[in-house]
Amino acid sequence: MFTSTDKFVQAYKKLFQNRYAFTYEQGTTEQQYIVLATLIKNQLAENWQATREQYLNEKVKQVYYFSMEFLPGRQMKSNAYNMGILSEIEKGVAELGLNFDELVEAEADPALGNGGLGRLASCFMDSLASLGIPGNGNGIRYQYGLFRQKFVDGHQVELPEYWLRNQNVWETRNDQSSYIVRFGGHVWMEIDHQDHWIPKYEGTQNVLAVPYDTPMVGYRTNKVNNLRLWSAEIPVEEEENYHTVQETDQIKGITQVLYPDDSNYEGRLLRLKQEYFMVSAGVQSIVRQFQKYNLPRKFFPEKIAIHINDTHPALVVAELMRILVDEEHLSWEQAWEITCKTCSYTNHTVLREALEKWPIDMMQSLLPRIYMIIEEINRRFVEETLPLYGEKLTWQTAILQDGMVNMAHLAIIGSHSVNGVAQLHTEILMNDVLRDFFTLYPGKFNNKTNGITQRRWMHLANPRLTQLIDSKIGEEWKQNPAELKLLKTFEQDDDTLEKLAEVKLQNKTDLADYIEQQHGLKVNPQSIFDVQIKRLHAYKRQHLNALHILDRYLRIKDDPAIDIQPRVFLFGAKAAPSYTYAKQIIKLINAIADLVNNDPDVGDKMKVVFFENYGVSLAEKIIPAADVSEQISLAGKEASGTSNMKLMANGAMTLATLDGANIEIKEYVGEDNIVVFGLSSTEVDQLNQSHAYHSKSLYESNERLNRVLNALIDGTIPNAQQEGEAVFDSLVHYNDEYFVLEDFDDYIAAQDKIDQLYADKKVWNRKSLLNIAASAPFSADYTIKRYTEEIWKAKPQCTDKEGVQPLNEPI
Ligand SMILES: *Cc1c(COP(=O)(O)O)cnc(C)c1O
Repeated sequence: MFTSTDKFVQAYKKLFQNRYAFTYEQGTTEQQYIVLATLIKNQLAENWQATREQYLNEKVKQVYYFSMEFLPGRQMKSNAYNMGILSEIEKGVAELGLNFDELVEAEADPALGNGGLGRLASCFMDSLASLGIPGNGNGIRYQYGLFRQKFVDGHQVELPEYWLRNQNVWETRNDQSSYIVRFGGHVWMEIDHQDHWIPKYEGTQNVLAVPYDTPMVGYRTNKVNNLRLWSAEIPVEEEENYHTVQETDQIKGITQVLYPDDSNYEGRLLRLKQEYFMVSAGVQSIVRQFQKYNLPRKFFPEKIAIHINDTHPALVVAELMRILVDEEHLSWEQAWEITCKTCSYTNHTVLREALEKWPIDMMQSLLPRIYMIIEEINRRFVEETLPLYGEKLTWQTAILQDGMVNMAHLAIIGSHSVNGVAQLHTEILMNDVLRDFFTLYPGKFNNKTNGITQRRWMHLANPRLTQLIDSKIGEEWKQNPAELKLLKTFEQDDDTLEKLAEVKLQNKTDLADYIEQQHGLKVNPQSIFDVQIKRLHAYKRQHLNALHILDRYLRIKDDPAIDIQPRVFLFGAKAAPSYTYAKQIIKLINAIADLVNNDPDVGDKMKVVFFENYGVSLAEKIIPAADVSEQISLAGKEASGTSNMKLMANGAMTLATLDGANIEIKEYVGEDNIVVFGLSSTEVDQLNQSHAYHSKSLYESNERLNRVLNALIDGTIPNAQQEGEAVFDSLVHYNDEYFVLEDFDDYIAAQDKIDQLYADKKVWNRKSLLNIAASAPFSADYTIKRYTEEIWKAKPQCTDKEGVQPLNEPI
């Protein structure tokens, strides 16, 4: 792109001077970063525009991925890499005498998501662009991202994350594509002179949705897709009606802050406002896009696919109906056919506490017209279902139940496709959680196992490994991940295995340096690096990990001369601010870390590190250095997981329950190359149904467990009495909802197996290699190909309930 390093250096100096009116050597690192990122963004502007124009001219089908969360991570390096100019840029920056890594770290990491859900959306954006698929993200430009986590005396403290403090280079504000979103007021219907029923609004609160567009750069393609994030503002023509800062803030407040709840539903009005704001602005801009195609409306589903990522954007169904019926004057039947052919929905969780249900009166007063439409969708659904399936099933699948709007039901009824995110998860949906819907619409259900982009999680995060792979199997795997399996041919090759071990050791040494610098703690890179990084949630069972650490500590105290494989236990996890138990577990683990790390009997035998503020940037540092991947959720609870995939691709051994995508990991890598333990999801179901589980009797009968649990409450862990008691009580007195005690023995045995395997370096290295070689199926490129072929296909069809006459009305 730059014809020479010289040209780059000149362009950089010029741009810096234009912008700041002094020389770059005098600038701050942030300013130096901003100029570099701007230079890179300028390089892709032409392709960004050309892609948009080409798609418009060719009237291609476009996918719109609606998600309340995106977690893209820092973008400068990844953009330069995908554009194929990274090494050129690095050379130029060195020529300028600047430190490239420092500039990279000066970029804010936009934490516009809680965890896996938002990260998946961003991996999908990367894959869509890299595969040259016309795909758009649609979300919210939160001014404050997920809180910044600090530990104060081991307790989580939440600080505001104002990620826009420095200029966000990547976004472009597009005022010409702004839309009005209406809230509240009164609605009534009038007939106009063309006999159309037209809604009339009075007293609505009108909010201007302004899009900020961010280029999504494909890997070695000239296609640039778009991520559109909406920001709430006061419409210019209404400014005079707002007199005080409080009134203004009420509008801007809609997109001010991301809700910090992961897999948990909070029925707050502001959240519903956020959801409709994003949905309405997004659907309006899609309808405008389709109008530019100048095609008959019946082609809408052949040109537009709208994907509903979890239930948060489920109002898409009602909003598209509203626009088609109220503004485009289609008949209800015509509009409905278009809507269900256009929409598709991904379910992300089976946890009850995460099921989104809004009180009818709240929805009715905030979104009166939308509620009328939902009522009509529900009325027709009930009318059609009742005679065919009877009262019980109809009631259980209705959208309106007990004074609530069930958002999953709205999404399922209004979509032609419903997918789960791993084989087991989809089976649980079909056989259990959504069984009634599976009876109604067996054809709608399908599985799309999650994936990760290897570009960010291997090529960029782990350049040493990438180089080693390149030197063994060539570079083709970067375009065609299936080639990674060629690595398998080196499983007996000592030279390859030793080099792989060397790469891992160097990555661990880097992480050890980082730990020393951040925590003032020395850890030995020769230890096993045992990693659990994910949101803190009781079902993910970080406390099971903690019990194992305690058990190991007590064994070392019994016999300080014990010959034990040295370990470093690494945690990264944020807890929702309102989730007391999760926060107690954080404090407990921090207290255990204090105890273990400062006990001279322990020394290098074990260390415990809890990183502050886990997020994408930290994940990129930790994952390449991991030996063991802790995926220990109670079977049946984790929908898929994606950190399991990232860690596997970087050569970590998975220590897992048979949950989510762990099952597929085992299938691909073979049972000898993963360590599995614990109850199966069927066994969990049986235990729940039989009421035969009594955690207290396990506590009383199992000596080893008894000792570890007592250590929580007998003062062994200084400074965490209250938290130790809380965990003890939930496990012993409240019957241990997530079967931690039941799985304890098996988990300890699995951990011992890890030690044994690690003791034979050659065996370990071979398993590590085989994990990398078997990780290709988890490339998000494959996941996205399947979404494109099977869900966002050229001519989607509404799947009617068995026995219902299909609509054949001409549109
Ligand atoms: C991948 C990722 C997750 C998802 O982790 P799970 O273990 O699959 O829940 C969460 N947060 C961040 C920052 C990630 O990169």
